[in-house]
Amino acid sequence: MNQQLDTIIIGAGISGLTVAHKLNLKHPDRKLLILEKGSRAGGCIESHHEGSYIAEIGPHGFLDNCQESRDLLAETGLDQEKVIAPLMDFVRYVFYNNKLNTIEQTPLKIIKAPLIPWKDKFGVLRDLFKRPLEGEPTVAKWVDYRFGPALLPYVDAVFTGTYAGDINCLKIDAVMPGARGLEKEHGSLIRGIFAKIWANRKNKKKKLSMPAMTSFADGMYRLPEKIASRFLEHDQLKLNTTVKSLKKDNEKWVVLTETGEEFSCFNLVLAVPTNISLKMLHDVDSSMPLNTIPEAKIVTVVFGYDNGASLPPGFGFLTPEVEKRFTLGTLFSSNMFPGRAPKGHIVFETLIGGRRHPERVSMSNDELIKYAKQEVTEILNLPGEPAFTRVLRSGWGIPQLEEKYPALLQWKKDLEAKEKGLHVCGFGWEGIGLNDMIKAATRVAADIETGTATVHEAEIKKVYF
Ligand SMILES: Cc1cc2nc3c(=O)[nH]c(=O)nc-3n(C[C@H](O)[C@H](O)[C@H](O)COP(=O)(O)OP(=O)(O)OC[C@H]3O[C@@H](n4cnc5c(N)ncnc54)[C@H](O)[C@@H]3O)c2cc1C
Repeated sequence: MNQQLDTIIIGAGISGLTVAHKLNLKHPDRKLLILEKGSRAGGCIESHHEGSYIAEIGPHGFLDNCQESRDLLAETGLDQEKVIAPLMDFVRYVFYNNKLNTIEQTPLKIIKAPLIPWKDKFGVLRDLFKRPLEGEPTVAKWVDYRFGPALLPYVDAVFTGTYAGDINCLKIDAVMPGARGLEKEHGSLIRGIFAKIWANRKNKKKKLSMPAMTSFADGMYRLPEKIASRFLEHDQLKLNTTVKSLKKDNEKWVVLTETGEEFSCFNLVLAVPTNISLKMLHDVDSSMPLNTIPEAKIVTVVFGYDNGASLPPGFGFLTPEVEKRFTLGTLFSSNMFPGRAPKGHIVFETLIGGRRHPERVSMSNDELIKYAKQEVTEILNLPGEPAFTRVLRSGWGIPQLEEKYPALLQWKKDLEAKEKGLHVCGFGWEGIGLNDMIKAATRVAADIETGTATVHEAEIKKVYF
């Protein structure tokens, strides 16, 4: 039997849940249904509880510098439950030249810090005199051209920490479209940033302060759990339901599930990762090849220590590829948020794999623990044996915005403009972080409200380690 709805959302990760929440906020009476393949909501977001340890299988948190995410927390009451770790109070490190280097937080301190020689610091000013780089350069090529090679290990660390990616493959136009836009508009990124600061001052925009990393006392899973609870209660979230195909029938979209159920709607939202979206969209327009986007998987080894072991102050460290280490970096979880380890214990989470080392993700748990332990024991100077170890494997890969990604994004925008009622957001479309997802999903809900597609300006994403 065909069930008729106003809006169907495919996927109950944070993207789909945000669209549903926003629509429901304005029109609780509209017929809306979320179809979710898994047996729980949340997608990539999954927290691990064992004894008194809490660790994350997916995201560890998100920065509170995104208005749409702040609104979501306020509207759902989750702002009363959040725990925060302000970046200003927590140092970060890059493990480079075989030691932990502190990354300072304010521009003046960064300039004064002895991370790179003074000649290379002045070398950064070459950006003022270079013409915009033609074509679709990779992040590494663009940074080298505009600022010189001395910054590359630090830029590598940033993109390891966000995409688990390879700066020799990620495209600058895809991962930092705002910065690339400033380069093209002003002929230099530095000039563009100053022009922006000046314009903001003239418009009396509030001075931006350092953001805080946000999570919840019981871990990140609280975010989708709370939003999903309302839709589960009202039978508007159908779990264990895999969408198999889509088709258009006059003004309506028809969705067919693997078990043969059929639903139709006027507004259809695809809130699934890019490669799954592409497979579904093939039913609508077969001109785009399937499985276009490479994905990077990571595995986490959680270590708990007692016996007076301590961590350096701060969030943790990232390791650029030039160091040729086994791990990508380590998050000092018990420093960041309270209640992550039993009393008197510390806990930290070490990340392995990523775009450059997919073979490590399929290593056995024993091997992963052995190599990761050797490395962290040396870097963090830890005494004795850990009291707790656990390997956590996320089933999700992080989409890598590489070759031909800008063309793919344009194809998606054109398709949405052409196909009335079709809306696409989710992991890998217009970013990969939780804030990117919440922002894009909020826009989709607004588009459904108004029946139009909004055009948005690429943002200047700030770089935090
Ligand atoms: C290991 C890892 C670490 C991360 N760390 C961070 C971090 O620290 N900070 C940060 O900001 N971001 C981080 N991210 C990214 C962040 O988790 C994602 O941006 C976000 O969770 C994606 O949400 P989504 O709803 O778009 O997609 P998903 O979470 O992938 O949700 C999509 C949903 O669609 C469902 N689905 C798929 N196919 C079908 C189908 N055919 N029919 C029905 N349902 C379907 C899936 O089961 C899933 O529930 C991390 C991601 C990973 C994988």
